Amino acid sequence: MDDLKLYEKNKNEIETLIHTVRIFSDDIGIEFGLDKCATITMIRGKLTGRGNIMLPNETEIHELEDNESYKYLRVMEADDIKQSEMKAKIRKEYIHSLMKELKSKLTAGNLITAINTWAVSLYRYGAGIIQWTKAELQQLDRRTWKLMTMHKGLYSRSDVDRVYVERDQKGRGLMSVEETVNYESHSLKKYTEGSPVEFIKTAGKIINTNSEDERQEYRNHQKTERKQNWNDKPMDGQHLRQTEDQAAKETWQWMKRGCLKRETESLIIAAQDQALRTNYRKAKIEKSTNDPKCRLCKQKDETVSHIVSKCSKIAQTEYKERLAFHREKVKLLWDFNVQTNKVIGARRPELILINKETKQCQVIDIAIPGDTRADSTV
Ligand SMILES: [Zn+2]
Repeated sequence: MDDLKLYEKNKNEIETLIHTVRIFSDDIGIEFGLDKCATITMIRGKLTGRGNIMLPNETEIHELEDNESYKYLRVMEADDIKQSEMKAKIRKEYIHSLMKELKSKLTAGNLITAINTWAVSLYRYGAGIIQWTKAELQQLDRRTWKLMTMHKGLYSRSDVDRVYVERDQKGRGLMSVEETVNYESHSLKKYTEGSPVEFIKTAGKIINTNSEDERQEYRNHQKTERKQNWNDKPMDGQHLRQTEDQAAKETWQWMKRGCLKRETESLIIAAQDQALRTNYRKAKIEKSTNDPKCRLCKQKDETVSHIVSKCSKIAQTEYKERLAFHREKVKLLWDFNVQTNKVIGARRPELILINKETKQCQVIDIAIPGDTRADSTV
């Protein structure tokens, strides 16, 4: 038994009620935590001083002072819920928790899980009771975004929607504070309105959920909307659109597992979202230059996929690296002209693995295409 509230019409009746609770408490062997108990008297909704309540054993329950509040189920209350005090408190705890996680060395996926579990859940509690406005919640999501960017957990120009899309849907899986609070308010409303107890049912009617949707609808709606928004953006969604059909699930394991360093994951995502400042982006989005062409080959548009795997200039240098290494039993040759007795045109395979013991060779050809060209290359 904990967090018990007793209501009565007058002082005599409340004393009788306390006496009953006392008998029960004694029977089951628990004691009043008197320092945590408090009494208030209200007449027509206004706080009125009526003094402490004496208990039979000469101890007393003190009356709340004017600016004092008591905690009921972790929420500060007096004659009403202390909204602004609670908001300030939750906000402070949230930022404190967020900073702790950002300063850790967690991998990209674990960092997001930690933020969802420890920080965002602070808002989950009290949703529907604490009256957050839409603007307050959105402001907090923006603040989260800013702090994550400062600590390399996000790339500032990355797609806003993708961050909140779930990991198995190729997003980063962060939970938005606004959506979490709205969803929890829906849950509380659904639960209370379905109660057989009349006054709980009535309480459910005044819970504000910030949206017209039903609870599950709200969640589904948010999920599809986020992904759709991301998909629809010409630059940010291009990679998603181009790889939708061909990318096997295995291709996205790195994203689902989230075991990369947060900087690495942010950079890859930024490249996919075309958020890196290539000439193409500068010309088409930022309008800071007129020439979208590649600064090396000067022929094609300088997009991320061009730089990564299509540029004819880089093809001659960076994509290839001469390498041959020897182990006791095998030798690996790369970019090596094979001497042949007869004239053969194609005698420069990408890899030759020589087994020194069996004196056999394996010729290996490798392709590392951009994600969008995976099918045509195979
Ligand atoms: Zn180029």
